[in-house]
Amino acid sequence: MTTTVIRGGTLLTAAGTHEADLVVRDDLVDSWRAPGTVLDADEVVDATGMHVAPGFVDVHTHLETVVAGVSTADDFVSGTRAAAFGGTTTVVDFVRQGPGEDLLERLDDASGRARGRCAIDYGFHQIVGDVGESSLSQFKQLLAAGVPSIKLFMAFPGDLYSDDTQLLTAMERAAELGVTVMVHAENGLAMEFLRQRARQRGQLSLPWHAKTAPPSVEGEATRRAIFLAELAGMPTLYFVHVSSAEALDAIADARRRGLPVYAETCPHYLYLDTAELDRPWAEGADFVCAPPLRTREHRDRLWWALAANDLSVVSSDHCPFCRSTLTPDRRDFSTLPGGIAGIEFRVPLIYDAALRGRLTLPRFVDVTATSPARAFGLDPEKGSLMPGSHADITILDPRGVTRTGAADHHMRVDHAVFESLTLRGRVHAVYLRGQRLVQDGRWVGPERDGRFVHRRPGSALYDRRSLPGLA
Ligand SMILES: [Zn+2]
Repeated sequence: MTTTVIRGGTLLTAAGTHEADLVVRDDLVDSWRAPGTVLDADEVVDATGMHVAPGFVDVHTHLETVVAGVSTADDFVSGTRAAAFGGTTTVVDFVRQGPGEDLLERLDDASGRARGRCAIDYGFHQIVGDVGESSLSQFKQLLAAGVPSIKLFMAFPGDLYSDDTQLLTAMERAAELGVTVMVHAENGLAMEFLRQRARQRGQLSLPWHAKTAPPSVEGEATRRAIFLAELAGMPTLYFVHVSSAEALDAIADARRRGLPVYAETCPHYLYLDTAELDRPWAEGADFVCAPPLRTREHRDRLWWALAANDLSVVSSDHCPFCRSTLTPDRRDFSTLPGGIAGIEFRVPLIYDAALRGRLTLPRFVDVTATSPARAFGLDPEKGSLMPGSHADITILDPRGVTRTGAADHHMRVDHAVFESLTLRGRVHAVYLRGQRLVQDGRWVGPERDGRFVHRRPGSALYDRRSLPGLA
């Protein structure tokens, strides 16, 4: 048995900040002790002046997958390693079922590729891109396999798109089983209409990417998803990558009515805006994502919603592409694979916001570790510093600085979308189940010790029995 004491730091949890020493026994958090009272330990880690937080949890990543015919730049090896450099110790990645593909075969395939190749712990959500009898009958097996969350797409007709009937049937089945339904809410048919019209008119430049997917397209789909979910028996709904005020209004309305509706946003919607699409093609293409970047007014609303708990989670939606793979001579925005590289900067970006007073420190931990872990059945092992939790620990130095340029990260992309920022605070050390992985920007631990996390149906974000009419 090995005992480690992390001494002199301030513990950060979703509930508050605490001056305490943290005792780790082997791979678990053992106890909190009054500062300076543990005299006997195998290892003493000096965290004076530091913040000691639970290992961070990123519940929205796309590693080693293919979008619009292009492979993402990070595989399970490089992506999870970059995540750890940025303070993240657990990711939940998306398994993609395309039209005509078998759900469980896709899950097997991803499990096989991830096994023994991840630097941090990982789980999966299942994208259901072909809602039909076969897929619906397999939801039970997904649950049994530790994958209690599916993702449905209201966007992308002809590819992952579900129509209203498919949404209803999948939501009904999910509600019966306690499976969480994640929704990509954009009206795919309306977007396709706008994009076809733009193509006919030769409006192919990058700003049209945003103009053909306006906020109303996201707002309508968000409202419709909530409406359909209510008809279908109200599974827990989780809106991914919320970007607009229109979507926020729909989510806030549903939450005021007591419905189990949750949502995340991503760092790029909080820090970037549509102006990025005015750059020259080769640079601007890095900023194509779905939904598109919005104007500053939307950004401000997102920050407010995050502080006010209309948004519960910040995920990276890491989906990286290299400039070199983005077909430089086909200058039509609608042919680009959408996705932003952010797995390594998610925690530093939100930590900076907390150090500047935009969020409280506990709220920072809540949206980047604790709520994502609870919403997706990872707690109490993950996202927590309570005794008995996994000793996944990230020590942050509030006096340090994080640079976000292309040369400052470990993601396998040839650019950096947050390049102009210098952030307050720095990841000092990262532990996974008691093993140190990162120290002062150097890798010092095992590279491929990440384990699959068998998740239970989420959600301690609310007690389902307490909701009127839903018991
Ligand atoms: Zn995504």
